[in-house]
Amino acid sequence: MILKNISILYGNNLKFIEKTNVLITDNTFQKISSKIKPTKHKVVNCDGLLLIPGLINSHTHIGDSIAKDIALDKDPDSKINPIFGIKQKILKETNPKKLIHYMRKTVKSMLKKGTTTFVDFREGGLDGVLLMQKALSDIPIRSIILGRIEYYQSKDQIKRNIPIPQSYQNQIDALLKNCDGIGISGSNENSDSSLKQFSKTKKIRAIHCAETKQSYLKSKQTTRKTEPMRSMLLKPDFLVHMTYASKSDLNMVSKKTRGIIVCPRANASLAEGIPNVVQMMEMNCNIAIGTDNVMINSPDLFREMDFLWKASMGIHQKRIEPKNILKMVTVNAGKLLDKKIGCIKEGYLADAVFIKKNDLDLDPLQNPHASIVHRANENSIQAVMIGGDIVHGKI
Ligand SMILES: [Zn+2]
Repeated sequence: MILKNISILYGNNLKFIEKTNVLITDNTFQKISSKIKPTKHKVVNCDGLLLIPGLINSHTHIGDSIAKDIALDKDPDSKINPIFGIKQKILKETNPKKLIHYMRKTVKSMLKKGTTTFVDFREGGLDGVLLMQKALSDIPIRSIILGRIEYYQSKDQIKRNIPIPQSYQNQIDALLKNCDGIGISGSNENSDSSLKQFSKTKKIRAIHCAETKQSYLKSKQTTRKTEPMRSMLLKPDFLVHMTYASKSDLNMVSKKTRGIIVCPRANASLAEGIPNVVQMMEMNCNIAIGTDNVMINSPDLFREMDFLWKASMGIHQKRIEPKNILKMVTVNAGKLLDKKIGCIKEGYLADAVFIKKNDLDLDPLQNPHASIVHRANENSIQAVMIGGDIVHGKI
C-alpha cells in the first residue's frame, strides 16, 4: 500500500513532514519519500491526514475492568493490595466469562483511542494469562502480557530471606511459556532471594516500584534499603511508577534499566501525588506512560498526555516540550520494550494513527505535537492501523 500526500511525524524525533508518501509492505514501513513512484501497490490519497505512530499504553491492568470506580474512598492498599485488596477479591470471585466481557470492552476502547500496543500486568497466574488471551483472541491489538505467580511473602519471610518454594518455582516455567514476561507486584512482597530467582527468568522482567509513600517507607523499615534499590535485584528491564523515587534512585535506574513507566492519572486518583517527570528527564531516564488499573482510571492516552503535560508544568513551573510527552507514548515506549514499534521509520512495524487535520478541535493545526498532546481525542481519529492493516475506521 502507498499512502500518498500524507503529513507524518517521522522518526525518533517525531519530525513533522508536511507532505510525503509512505510505502507499506510486509506489515512494515518500507519507504518514506516524496518520490515513491506508483507501482503494483494500492495507492490511497491521504490528503488532509496526519500519520502519527500508534500509541503504546505501557502499563495496564485490564483484568479489573469489571471493578470501575468501586471503593473510591478507600486507601490504596484496601483497593489494590495484591494480597488483601478489594480488587483481588473481585478478580477471584467473579465468573471468568464476566471478566472477559469487560476486558474486551476495555481493549476495544483502547483501539478506538489510537492505542495499538498495550502492556498488561496480569494477575491470577497461568489461568489469568490464559483468560486474557481468550479475551483478546479476535481483537487485532498488539498485547504484551506480563504474568505473575500468586505468591507473596510476609515481612517476616522477607527479613529471613526465604526463597520461593519449589511448588511455586515450577509454576514460573509454565507461566512464561504462555506470556511475554513477568510483572512483579513489588519488592515489598518478595525477599532478596526471591527477587534474585525471578531475575534468572529469560523474558521481560518488570516490577511496580515506589508507587506510594507508604510502600517506600515500608521497604526502608523492613530492609533498610529503598524500594528501587531492592527492585534492582530483579535485574528489571523497566520499573513502573517511581512516584516516590529520590534523585539517587533515578540516577541508578537510568543507568541500569531501559526506563520508567509513569502512571500520572492513576497515582493522582489514589491521592498519591504525581511522578516528577521533570526530574526524571533531567536524570536522563527513558520515560513511557501507562494508564494502570481500569478500576481507578480510564485507558485513554490522550487524556494521560494532557494531564501529565499541564500538571507537571503547573507544579514545577517549568516548560516541557509537548514533543517530549508525545514521545513517552510512542518512541520511548518502543525503546523501553525493545521492539520495532512506536516510530514511523523504515523497518518499523506499520502501526499508526491517522489524525484528521481539519478536525473541529485541531483546525488550524499549527503545532502538531502540542495539539495532539492536549487537544486530540478519539473523535480526531480517522483510522487506526496495525501492521499495515486498518483495524478501526477507514481511509
Ligand atoms: Zn500497576
